[in-house]
Amino acid sequence: MKDIRDLSFDEWRDELVRIGEPAFRAGQIFDWIYKKGATRFEDMTNLGRDLQEKLGRAYLVGRLELFGVLRSKDRAEKYVFRLHDGSRIESVLIPAGNRATVCVSTQVGCKYACAFCASGRRGFVRHLTPSEIVGQVLFLRDHIDTALTNIVFMGMGEPFDNFENLIKAILILNSPHGLGIAARRMTVSTAGIIPGIERFKKLGLQVNLSISLHAATDAKRSGLMPVNRKYPLEKLLAACEDYLREGGRKLTLEYVLIKKVNDGAEDAARLARIAARLKAKINLIPFSPVIGLAFEVPEEGRVLDFRRKLEAGGVPVTLRHSKGRDIQAACGQLAGI
Ligand code: SF4
Repeated sequence: MKDIRDLSFDEWRDELVRIGEPAFRAGQIFDWIYKKGATRFEDMTNLGRDLQEKLGRAYLVGRLELFGVLRSKDRAEKYVFRLHDGSRIESVLIPAGNRATVCVSTQVGCKYACAFCASGRRGFVRHLTPSEIVGQVLFLRDHIDTALTNIVFMGMGEPFDNFENLIKAILILNSPHGLGIAARRMTVSTAGIIPGIERFKKLGLQVNLSISLHAATDAKRSGLMPVNRKYPLEKLLAACEDYLREGGRKLTLEYVLIKKVNDGAEDAARLARIAARLKAKINLIPFSPVIGLAFEVPEEGRVLDFRRKLEAGGVPVTLRHSKGRDIQAACGQLAGI
């Protein structure tokens, strides 16, 4: 059976026409699924019994099964979902006042094995379907009181490694027939997959792009992020410049600050030069401990000093203490187990 939530609005409209139904039904059904949260055709009361039964024989409306919720002292919440094949994925809700950001997973596990990341240590299991990606947002929208205002694709997995499903999920989230979330309120974070950046650029979406940099030399970056051996720094920066030249939105550089690994004066100077070259802002994220990893959390004084050095180089910096550390929900801590 086909999951309707794997289809963009245009695909669903074409599908309905193909099975002999009028195109206007596509809007009605998307409304039931995305506006009213229906998952059963018999609840879609304006369709008529025959159509409900016809759809029920060939289609389903996917939904995620909640496995558990962990609530952090700092109000972050980790939602663990069990998928139909028994895999588990995690989404993190990060409230701020009466708004909230949701950090969404795009894969079960990850191929890229970054040294500081729990998802990478687990290895790659499989891509998430568009329905499973969108389903994380839908579930939260329907189960929390706070308005979901921002979506970040920074959970488990490398989004550009699951490019087609990521883009389809973005289209569904963005569509007025879907969740109607503005493109500018969504951010895709990549470990620096250059072909992904190039494909993303060609789509011309107004979705934000964030590069997980984490080191400012090839030697250090390859040590922390093996993907750098395939897509080394200079080529990555050239791809970013290209992206900006062709109308891409302002970039953010993510930098997880790890004690005595990438927190020296020389690291700050190099990072500031890269950010200036790309006119990017930096999200500085003090490392969050991952069980079984020897990396250490930098002291607050050292973090502030690193930030000062970047700012002295004229670079805008946001210091983001990753939320949810106590429930293993912070950046790099998601493993789905
Ligand atoms: S940081 Fe991102 S790309 Fe690297 S292993 Fe973790 S999930 Fe994969």
